[in-house]
Amino acid sequence: MGLNRRRTRAMRVGTVTIGGEASLVFQSMCATKTTDIVATAATARCLSQAGAGIVRVAVDTPADAAALVEIRAELPDSVNLSIDLQENYPLIEKAAPSIQKARYNPGHLHHRDAQTPWQEKVRWMVDVAMRYDLALRIGVNCGSVDPAIAAKFPQGDDLSALLASAVEHAEFLESIGFDRYCVSLKDSEPATVVELNRRFALAMPHVPLHLGVTEAGMPPEGILKTRLAFEPLLREGIGETMRVSLTVPNEDKSQEIEAARQMVAEIAAGHFLTDTQKMAFSGRLDIVSCPSCARVENGRFVELAQKIREITRPYAEYPIRIAVMGCRVNGPGETDDADLGLWCGADRVNLKCGRQTLGTFSYEEIESRFLAELQNLLSTRA
Ligand code: SF4
Repeated sequence: MGLNRRRTRAMRVGTVTIGGEASLVFQSMCATKTTDIVATAATARCLSQAGAGIVRVAVDTPADAAALVEIRAELPDSVNLSIDLQENYPLIEKAAPSIQKARYNPGHLHHRDAQTPWQEKVRWMVDVAMRYDLALRIGVNCGSVDPAIAAKFPQGDDLSALLASAVEHAEFLESIGFDRYCVSLKDSEPATVVELNRRFALAMPHVPLHLGVTEAGMPPEGILKTRLAFEPLLREGIGETMRVSLTVPNEDKSQEIEAARQMVAEIAAGHFLTDTQKMAFSGRLDIVSCPSCARVENGRFVELAQKIREITRPYAEYPIRIAVMGCRVNGPGETDDADLGLWCGADRVNLKCGRQTLGTFSYEEIESRFLAELQNLLSTRA
């Protein structure tokens, strides 16, 4: 057996090709501070050696963009760098000479230059991409839907809003003659990822798709959760590049590539998930946690996520969703849908119950406060 692949448009990213007749491209992301040139270059090299065709790096400040010059100088041309832009989209220009690809999030474009229409911002990024031989990714996430698009759909219908946002941006890029782009539509729920990617693949079958499950969590659960999304899509031929996002320490980031390779090899060999494995998350305690990136403000985040998993083991049979997030960029929004959410700041951890903030606590206090809130929550549901 082998993977049954559909045929999309091909796009070149440095030395690799996504889509067309090319093999699946695996990706990962550095979680080191981008300004830590030695550590970021070392992680990028390690990920590339593990099989990453593209290595992503977060760029939020001019210092991050400037650091890329030195990171690039440390790496061979075979390491293709992509930047992850969130709110500070103009940084693409400063980073461009050092990279091969940039990802922008339509849901974050409104934060800068609010009076400028998003079309102008994207057109400007495309000009930069064309000048510097870059590919682009339109990366939409359920936790950060463009508010202007969300307002057009009934409250809670994030799925339709997200799909509309991705299609709107893809159609705009095509309308201005730029076709060197791919799209990602991510969520932390595998079923939502499947639905979003199926619908986009139907709407724009020629556009390469980057598969991903956000905040999949720690291995082994995070790998299984990712596979619940990727397996049906890959069996339908959907997906040209992919990232398995795992909450692991920086030095273990190559696990993301190893997990992706193994998953694809098993699916290609016809080894599919059993019904028991598919049921693993239904009606049970579910911990979503981000894979961390350069935006993490306190390196204790991964350790905290691991501790939360340990102390919640006795509650595994309860249908509770817990979110543990590494920073203020996505933390506040992506904990809204959890029964209990934690997002990490530099010195304190914010604890939430749904959308309500319960307080901020030191890294020493947070475990006991979290446990008390969990028990409180369970008692109200008993
Ligand atoms: S929540 Fe913050 S630290 Fe975690 S992956 Fe997202 S941006 Fe990075």
